[in-house]
Amino acid sequence: MEKKNQLYEGKAKKVYETDDPEVLIVSYKDDATAFNGLKKGSITGKGVINNQMSNLLMQGLEKKGVPTHYIEELSERETAVKRVKILPLEVIIRNISAGSFSKRYGVEEGIVFDNPTIEFSYKNDDLGDPLLNDDHAIALKLCTREELETVKKYAFIVNDFLKDVWKTCGVTLVDFKIEFGKTSDGTIVLADEISPDTCRLWDSKTGEKLDKDRFRRDLGGVEEAYAEVMKRLRQASL
Ligand code: UDP
Repeated sequence: MEKKNQLYEGKAKKVYETDDPEVLIVSYKDDATAFNGLKKGSITGKGVINNQMSNLLMQGLEKKGVPTHYIEELSERETAVKRVKILPLEVIIRNISAGSFSKRYGVEEGIVFDNPTIEFSYKNDDLGDPLLNDDHAIALKLCTREELETVKKYAFIVNDFLKDVWKTCGVTLVDFKIEFGKTSDGTIVLADEISPDTCRLWDSKTGEKLDKDRFRRDLGGVEEAYAEVMKRLRQASL
């Protein structure tokens, strides 16, 4: 599989076309941004970890019945994926209060919910990814109601799977963001990535943050935290 034209360069990844119109190559960078691009930096080794972690988790999710864009890992930083149209929706599941939830509703971080919550934001950097509900997403024609139901069903399966996997690693899954795409035949598949950039992961014993909040909040030990969760995931058999 060979990289052709660069299609797109985002904050954390580059995307290339290949000989096959249905296949793209994603290349993960070490660049890190936060607060809608206001904070910029680099996390050495992050691209390798996010690539490998996403691929491991997506392969596990396929076995749980969640279709994904994953095709084949090509190198440490590069993966062949199905070409999809990304639904302009960020799907966020929360098990414990943190981040924007705590800020928005004025509650402390660390409140364990009886049931996971789901929320959507409109993927639009100019607008700052505003929160939106099902009806808004459909009114804006971001997806159909049927597609939204599929997305929700998959998102909760992803949560159950990730919660279990991380638990065996001694890590508590606080919340995460996922994105879905549509293949040329209209199938909804999990796309983008699942990594410490997109999940909040707390050490189950100490509560230590092992995710991008170390970068966002200048807590130090960013590289070490990413390497630690990757090491634990490798040790857990998926
Ligand atoms: N998240 C993400 N990309 C975004 C916004 C959020 O990956 O653009 C992830 C974030 O890492 C966390 C979860 O989604 O695991 C919930 O984030 P939240 O809404 O609390 O926003 P934040 O506090 O990160 O701004």
